[in-house]
Amino acid sequence: MPIHHPSTHDVIIAGAGPVGLFLACELRLAGVSVVVLERAADPRSPLKGLPFGMRGLSAPTLEALDRRDLLTAIEAAQRVNASSGAAKAASHWMQAPRRPAGHFAGIQFFHEDIDTARWRYRLPSPAGLTLAVDMHALETVLAERATTMGAEIRRGLEVESFDQSDEGVAVQAGGERLHGRWLVGCDGGRSLVRKAGGFVFAGTGPEFTGYSVEVELADPDALAPGRTYTATGMYTYARPGVIAMVDFDGGAAHRTQPLTPDHVQAVLRRVSGVDVTLTALKLATTWTDRAFQATQYRRARVLLAGDAAHIHSPLGGQGLNLGLGDAMNLGWKLAAVICGEAPVGLLDSYGAERHPEGARILDWSRAQVALMRPTPSTRALETIIRDLIATRDGATYFAEKVWNTSLRYDLGGDHPLVGRSVPEFAFLEGPRTSDRLRDGKALLLDFAPGAPLRSVARRWPGRMSYVAGELADRLGLGAVFVRPDGVVAWASETAGDDGGLSRAASRWIGEP
Ligand SMILES: Cc1cc2nc3c(=O)[nH]c(=O)nc-3n(C[C@H](O)[C@H](O)[C@H](O)COP(=O)(O)OP(=O)(O)OC[C@H]3O[C@@H](n4cnc5c(N)ncnc54)[C@H](O)[C@@H]3O)c2cc1C
Repeated sequence: MPIHHPSTHDVIIAGAGPVGLFLACELRLAGVSVVVLERAADPRSPLKGLPFGMRGLSAPTLEALDRRDLLTAIEAAQRVNASSGAAKAASHWMQAPRRPAGHFAGIQFFHEDIDTARWRYRLPSPAGLTLAVDMHALETVLAERATTMGAEIRRGLEVESFDQSDEGVAVQAGGERLHGRWLVGCDGGRSLVRKAGGFVFAGTGPEFTGYSVEVELADPDALAPGRTYTATGMYTYARPGVIAMVDFDGGAAHRTQPLTPDHVQAVLRRVSGVDVTLTALKLATTWTDRAFQATQYRRARVLLAGDAAHIHSPLGGQGLNLGLGDAMNLGWKLAAVICGEAPVGLLDSYGAERHPEGARILDWSRAQVALMRPTPSTRALETIIRDLIATRDGATYFAEKVWNTSLRYDLGGDHPLVGRSVPEFAFLEGPRTSDRLRDGKALLLDFAPGAPLRSVARRWPGRMSYVAGELADRLGLGAVFVRPDGVVAWASETAGDDGGLSRAASRWIGEP
């Protein structure tokens, strides 16, 4: 059962980034006690605002946020920021004549080329398929929600070390010793929890140093707007001075020297091949294409989520989505174990489902690096990818990967919907499917008249909601069992058929 003693928490989360905050919300939904320890005293940072704090959210993330009634608040917070000049500079690519839907190594694909009709199990949803938000807006909404739900967020408290035993974890942070039954490291790419916890972090080293800089230029028209590949690297430029550039130096300049105006100017000249002059350097940060992933996501009572578990270049814009997906996958499972509703083995499915997804994203980012190398053979390959991405098949393929509509966990089961996100079924009466997931319970959707599967749901009172109803389009399905994270664990096309349903429900709701 959850702990309610003030000095001991069910879960200690290291890091109040978006992943730690969303995980805190998920755990509070199930009533377990949570404290989030955050090193930074102040949640604000210039790099979380516009233009560099802009992040693209993909379909599974938007669905997750919608299923927890967070999306409307995030969109509203974003609208406030979107009226600023910086927002307009950050979204320069949106002003192009054709509506870009995303990109692969900067090669765009367009909405009108994508054949969404091929996605048999996707129904129209107000959550949409993509959304650009800035980190400030996202973190503010998540922190407010976590606090409102009863999570304690302690800022200015850095996790320094920890010990774990069979019963729990003792965490040393800022001169205090805190006790938790579980510790989750959501403490970013240089995670202390990962390092001190003895997790193996395996992957590939950097080929380049990436720069995000905001500058004033003597001649703002000297650089070509948009993305330009050059003989030495690549840069993107949004007037009057927002620049991202990639310098193939093997990652040598990342965090090894001060980002002075002279250094940035020298790199910009080398990468762009243009004799630009910086008159001011307002903001600068570097990153690389290191791609590493923890080989395990759990060691006994310590778990990893988000950048703590996987890092890669931000080029594909997927790291945040990957991390929020970790939190949605882990939250209900950890809560069920803590509440004694599921065996601890349920946690093995967290790594089993999320590690392959992380590995896929790391490879997706590596493939983009390969397509950016400043060599003639790479530029030749780029021409071929450009041709392919412009076809209907190509655009649909890339949209599936970038928007992640193809996400499917290997849960076994025969039906092609199993392992996928539940379609946004529109009931003729009553709330829509996402609204019905807001309490964090599993969902049994029964589309047959007479509601013959109701008795299965009665076995897990309070943990599984049963909904019988008629739909505008039931996609040929008779019934669907949905996990608390919105993933389909069982589906049948036959009305009233519970073959396999009880087994799937036992497995995913868990038997104590
Ligand atoms: C330039 C750039 C562009 C990007 N664009 C996109 C995009 O478009 N789409 C996308 O999906 N992703 C994008 N990403 C990646 C995305 O920002 C990250 O994957 C995401 O922020 C990870 O969230 P997190 O909560 O795991 O970690 P973080 O956001 O890094 O948060 C970790 C938190 O832990 C705290 N912390 C660290 N150590 C400790 C400690 N010892 N004790 C306590 N607290 C600690 C930190 O202060 C921080 O607040 C981009 C990244 C960059 C750099």
